[in-house]
Formats: sequence, structure tokens, C-alpha cells
Amino acid sequence: MKSGMLAAAAFFLLILLLSFIVAIYVQKRMHQLSYQNRLLKALRSLDIAAISTVEIQPLSQAIVDVVRKELGYFFGVIALADYKINGIKRVAISTNEQLEQLLKTLPVRFNDQIVPFNSKDNLFIKVINSQQKTFTENLYDIQAGVLPREFSQKIQREFNLRGVFLYPLITKGRVIGIIEYPTQKKRDQISQFEYTIMEEFTREVARVLDNVMLYQTLKDTSEKLAVANQRLKELDQLKDDFVSVASHELRTPMTAIRSYVWMALHKSDVSLSQKLEKYLYRTLVSTERLINLVSDMLNVSRIEAGKIEINPKPFSIVELTKDVMEEVKIKAGEKRLQLLVLEHSLPQVFADPDKVHEILLNLIGNALKFTYPGGAITVDFFTDGKTVEVSVKDNGLGIARDDLSKLFHKFSRLDNSYTAVSTSGGTGLGLYISRSLVELMHGSIWARSEGADKGSTFTFSLPIATQDILKHAAQFTVKAKGEVKGLEPAAI
Ligand code: ADP
Repeated sequence: MKSGMLAAAAFFLLILLLSFIVAIYVQKRMHQLSYQNRLLKALRSLDIAAISTVEIQPLSQAIVDVVRKELGYFFGVIALADYKINGIKRVAISTNEQLEQLLKTLPVRFNDQIVPFNSKDNLFIKVINSQQKTFTENLYDIQAGVLPREFSQKIQREFNLRGVFLYPLITKGRVIGIIEYPTQKKRDQISQFEYTIMEEFTREVARVLDNVMLYQTLKDTSEKLAVANQRLKELDQLKDDFVSVASHELRTPMTAIRSYVWMALHKSDVSLSQKLEKYLYRTLVSTERLINLVSDMLNVSRIEAGKIEINPKPFSIVELTKDVMEEVKIKAGEKRLQLLVLEHSLPQVFADPDKVHEILLNLIGNALKFTYPGGAITVDFFTDGKTVEVSVKDNGLGIARDDLSKLFHKFSRLDNSYTAVSTSGGTGLGLYISRSLVELMHGSIWARSEGADKGSTFTFSLPIATQDILKHAAQFTVKAKGEVKGLEPAAI
């Protein structure tokens, strides 16, 4: 009987012990869940704040408010590293009425509190350099150099602060700032869950702040680029105006010099010595070259300023090519060059004949310049039913493969040695002008060459005057911006 009672008592005790263990476990679990719940709520609020602003200050303010309201700290502070001022600067603090009053009495305004990177005694700098979290019981440790010691002590006393946890905000291996978690608990009262909360929350804060900083950097860069771009446009306009004015001013005296030298050479009533004749001839050639350069520069500035009109109409490209070949016949004769136009029956093209004349004159003129005496220049045509391609082929100097892509840029003279420049006498603008004109007429232009001494072929395409295109003729017309200017004739 007695042993039966003992067994019942033991059983009862066991049940009691088990219930006690279960109760402790449940309580601990509840505790953990409540912390997890706090963290989740805080992270959600952080995400909402991150979506609703792209500015650093309001986002930092929203974060420290979450630290106070959702995580339950007495207040929260964010300080950000500023590499322009070489220091770390407090940017946001969550406040209540009591704190608000205190902030008003600060000897240095909260947002003006900067701790220089080279400060020796402020704990902030240790956190930045070590990239490690830390705790201090002494508020002055993070206010050293910013606020008087007595002031820090007064704050600590007034708010009964037991210390501050400092967590570095790290992204991509770099500290971008520090978040402060001030506490009214003793350090040994801080649970492991609370450390986890600070750890995880800090990591997320670093991520959202880094995103906003990246966005701000991008925004700043694009704003700077827009300003630089505007400045470039203004400079470009200034340059165009200068080229245009200078070219006009240069052309008149140069044309006069050319006429007088020509007259001195050909119409002189005194006989010229051989030497003088040579000098005058050189003056004439150089002046002509200058006039050509000025004409090309004028054409470029007119095209770029949109002063050129395109008035397309249907015409025969073969007939126009034959006309141009007639124009260059004498020049070709001087080098004994053979000129050939391979005739085809072709549909009419829809383009501005004056501008196509300029392009042909430039391409055939180049072929004349860069083909050895006795060589041949052939113009051929091809059509695919939508466009006509015109090819000017020579068997002269050719072009190196690497140079082909440079040809249609401004001042694209390929050999910059002085002799080559002076013998070819070009400006390096002709192909740029040709490309601009072809493109204004909805065509394209390209060059082919097998290499040095293997000749070159320059081809451009123009739309065919189909019924459909004629119906939409207006789309092919280009009106000039402001005053209409013609093109100076291409020199050959
Ligand atoms: P320019 O002939 O006035 O120098 P272009 O823009 O018409 O200017 O031509 C640019 C450069 O392209 C020439 O200086 C020359 O080096 C090269 N080039 C043009 N056409 C030919 C060609 N048919 N054969 C070889 N090189 C050429």
C-alpha cells in the first residue's frame, strides 16, 4: 500500500517536472517567435520605405523610425561615410518629444556632426576600419570630437542609456556607414535573438541604402552628362558659325589672288623668267587648293546646319553619269586615263540630281587622283528592283583594309605624310560630304578594295522612282532650316 503511494507520488512529480520543462520550452519558443515577428515586420516596413523613396535622407529617416517603432529601441541613428569630406556624418535620428527637446539644445546641430576619418578617439572610426560591430557603455565614445564630454554624459543620464550597439553598414566589402542601436538594457540582458535581429536588420539596411546611393550616382552622372552635352552642342554651334564666317571671309580674297596669279601667268605683257613662272604656278596651285578646302568646309557646315535642300525627282542616272564623265574628260586625258560607263537599261532613280552630280564628281574625281597614268575608271550599275547601285571602279592605288572604315569620316585623309598630302591635294572632306548627301536621299555608300595597288570601288545606292515612292514623294523632300544654301562645286 505504502509502495503504491510512493509510486503515485513519483509519477506525479515526474509529470510536474515534464510540464515545467514543456512550459519553459514553450515560453522560449514564444519569445523567439515574438522576436522573429518583430524582425519580419521591421523588414517589411524597410522594403516599403525603400520602394517609396529614391533619396538618401528620407530613406535614412524612415529606417531609423523603423528602429524605434518596430524594433523597439529607444531611438536609432544612421551616419554615412562621405568620401568627399573625408568623414562620417550623422544623417538621421528617430525622435520622440523628449529627444526633440534635447536636439534643440545641442551645441553642434545633429546634421552637422561630422567625425573625420583621421579622428583617433572616436569609436566610429574603429568600426569603419575594422568593419566589426561593437558595443560601448559610454555614449561619449561616439561623440568624442563632436560634443563636449559633459553633454554626452548628461544625455546618457537623462535617458537612462546603458550603452549603444554600433553596426557597420557594409556592401561589396566597403563600409558605407554605421547604424546605432542605443539600449536602456544592461548588456547581459540582451538575448541572442536580439543580436540576430540587429545583425539581419543591419544587413538589409546596407542593401537598400546601397541601391539608393547607386541610383543617386547614376542620376548625378546623367545630369552632369546632360550639362556637358549641352555645352558641347553650344561649342559645336560656335565652331560651325566660325567655320561658316571664316570660310566666307577667306574665299573672296583667295579668289582674287587666284585671278591675279592666273593673269600674271597667262596674260602678262612682260616675259617671265623660268623661276618666276615656277613660283607663280605653285602659288596658283596652292591657292586653288585653299579655295577647294574653303568650298568643302562651307559645304560641310551647310549640310550640318541643315541649310541644304533635297528636291528629288525621277531621272536617268546613266545619263547623269555620262555628263559627269564628259566634264572630267580633259583632266582624265592629262593622265591618259580610260573612262568607261557600262550602260544598262535601268529604271529612273528618285533623288536630287544636283546632289547626285556632286557625289559622282567627287567619286570620279577621287578615282582620277588616285589612279596611275594609263589606268582605267569604270562606272557600272546594278539594280535589285528597289534601288540602283552606282559603282565607280578604278585600278589605282587601292586602300588598305584597316582604312576602309575611316574613309567616310571628316578629314579622312589616309596618308598623313606631307608629300602624299601635297601630291593628292585633297581635303579629306569629299567622301564625308558624299555620304551625308547620299543619306539625305535615303541611300547608302560604301567602299571596297583588295588592298594597296589593287584599285578601289566606291558604290552608292539610290531609291528607284517606283509608283509607291512617287506617291510618298513628300517624305523624300528635305526642307532647309532657315536660309537655303546651294553646294559649292566639288573640285576635281
Ligand atoms: P580628298 O580626296 O579630298 O582627300 P575624300 O574624302 O574624297 O577627300 O577622300 C578621303 C581619302 O580617301 C583620300 O584622301 C584618299 O586617301 C582616300 N581615297 C578616296 N578615294 C580613293 C580612291 N579612289 N583610291 C584610293 N584612295 C581613295
